[in-house]
Amino acid sequence: MHYFTPKRCASSGKIMYHDKAQAQRAADESFRERGIDLWVYRCELCGTWHLTSHDPDASYRYVPLNQQLKPHSRKKGYKPRRR
Ligand SMILES: [Zn+2]
Repeated sequence: MHYFTPKRCASSGKIMYHDKAQAQRAADESFRERGIDLWVYRCELCGTWHLTSHDPDASYRYVPLNQQLKPHSRKKGYKPRRR
């Protein structure tokens, strides 16, 4: 199950994912297991992917669910949210 050791971003303290699919999988697990909807976004500081539980600020454009990579996913990561 645990085939990679999470590293933390020095800037944000978030877990670093090497690619978008990996981050998306983690977000999907969180949604299934805990019902927590997470956003996947690319960190401009460290260049890896992070998850965030709330709509990223304007400095981070939210990343649409890559349906071409995970067509079976039910994650609703692309829906716009407003405060
Ligand atoms: Zn980072």
